[in-house]
Amino acid sequence: MPELPEVETVTKSIKRHLIGESFSSMTVHWKKTLHNFTPNDFNNKVKSRKVKDVYRRAKYIVIDLDEVIMPVHLRMTGKLYVSNLVDTTKKHISLYLQFNDKYLIFEDTRKFGRFYLYENMNFLNNKLGVEPLSSNFTENWILRNMKSRNRQIKQLLFDQSFICGLGNIYIDEALWMAKIHPLSISSAIPSRKIITLRKAIIKVLGDSIKLGGTTIRDYTYDFSYVGNYALNLNVFGKQGGACSRCNSIILKDKIAQRGTHYCPECQKI
Ligand SMILES: [Zn+2]
Repeated sequence: MPELPEVETVTKSIKRHLIGESFSSMTVHWKKTLHNFTPNDFNNKVKSRKVKDVYRRAKYIVIDLDEVIMPVHLRMTGKLYVSNLVDTTKKHISLYLQFNDKYLIFEDTRKFGRFYLYENMNFLNNKLGVEPLSSNFTENWILRNMKSRNRQIKQLLFDQSFICGLGNIYIDEALWMAKIHPLSISSAIPSRKIITLRKAIIKVLGDSIKLGGTTIRDYTYDFSYVGNYALNLNVFGKQGGACSRCNSIILKDKIAQRGTHYCPECQKI
């Protein structure tokens, strides 16, 4: 599943094609891709409007057309890219939009990806938490908000209404860096570890975006090569191997309904 760094990379790669352009048509092969609007709504509200901005909010790619926004969520297998042609031999193209002499193509094997249409960001902002790479994610913010919650840290970090955009890989890596056991209760974690956790979250996401940004090409982009491979992983997928910090064997347990990787020696509760 694409995580925050992959979504950021896709956002940047389509942005440079779309700014200032306007969509002239939409062709839909898989109707459910349009979550809360119809092709008619597209014609009335989106068509011919200029793209003012394209940015990421949590794991949504937001296409901002001034008085209307069109967020896209890739979910499990969605791929969003710009091409000069639509390859009709490809089976999994859910929809595509034409602009100028190019196409914004949405390809989705599992068909869970969605396009939305809203007047503004209010709906998304109300359900999404702080952006971990924004200036709002301060030491004070994380100290105050972790201390005021009595929740298992792994579960809390998954909660998109707390900090948005964190997925399984980056949570395991950040907890290992900060030497925090995934079952620790947020309010009981010492302040110095919380401060380290904040830096770790910023580092794993930032490093991954940097690497994703250098390996990506618009037309050949494949999520399976980003995230897992681009990042220098310390615990994720390393169960049974030695911890690079203390040589103990890395464990994998089911925590917060997800396979969770940690070092039992470095990460004590
Ligand atoms: Zn260790």
